[in-house]
Amino acid sequence: MTARIGVIGGSGVYDFEGVEYRDEVCPDTPYGKPSDSIRLGTYAGRELAFLPRHGRTHRFNPTNVPYAANIYALKTLGVEWIIALNAVGSLRIELAPLHLVIPDQLIDRTRSRVNTLFDPIAVHVGFADPFCNSLRHVLIRAAKECALTVHEKGTYVCMEGPLFSTKAESHLYRSWGADLIGMTALPEAKLAREAEICYAGIASVTDYDCWHEEEETVDIQMVIRNLLKNAENVKKVVLKAIPLVPQSRDGDPCASALATAVISKPADFPPDKREAFQFLTKKYR
Ligand SMILES: [Zn+2]
Repeated sequence: MTARIGVIGGSGVYDFEGVEYRDEVCPDTPYGKPSDSIRLGTYAGRELAFLPRHGRTHRFNPTNVPYAANIYALKTLGVEWIIALNAVGSLRIELAPLHLVIPDQLIDRTRSRVNTLFDPIAVHVGFADPFCNSLRHVLIRAAKECALTVHEKGTYVCMEGPLFSTKAESHLYRSWGADLIGMTALPEAKLAREAEICYAGIASVTDYDCWHEEEETVDIQMVIRNLLKNAENVKKVVLKAIPLVPQSRDGDPCASALATAVISKPADFPPDKREAFQFLTKKYR
């Protein structure tokens, strides 16, 4: 069974109820095993694959999530759309805890993650607009239909972690125009673009990052309560979004991201990745 819509659960979202599951797979990929087994099912007549990014028991920190294996495994299952769920901190007063944001931009502050499926060859995909615009609009509409507070754009800075940012970093990111801080949207979004999968995220705000002096005394219990409430909300939004996802990707730029991106020649494909690279680029040969 293949699935055309993938859902990647973030912190607090380890299960995805309401879907009629029929199968569960944990494929071995040239990039290793995904974070956990992937559950396959249907909802509203659409085929769906659910994968918890950190594993069902949250065994991977953001640095160690097997992003490449996750994206490649979803690609081999026929996934063309990925809805990614991310818990984030807010860098703006107006993006309050329990609000949802559909980010439109990313700043990469990761440094210990392989950020291409095509290592070590040269493949340069366009990433000016890192999220799929048509999927973003589906998510905005779905969040509004759920009567939740949703911000229609935002710049997400992805830091390495696993520590939270310092005050100096938090102020620096604000001065750069960033709105949200998290640890998991990258390299996931880049890898999805390389796999020509339409990718967009729902960022749910758990707290103000440490720049917000008055919020300094916020206790961890409150953050956890927000995380759980957000998990409930984003699941509702995803269920609302699934029937709104377009049936066809005709004309969608994500679907042809590799058309002019592969610089190296097939002869340069390394033996251990040859099959993967051929699979990813097969429609151009
Ligand atoms: Zn797209």
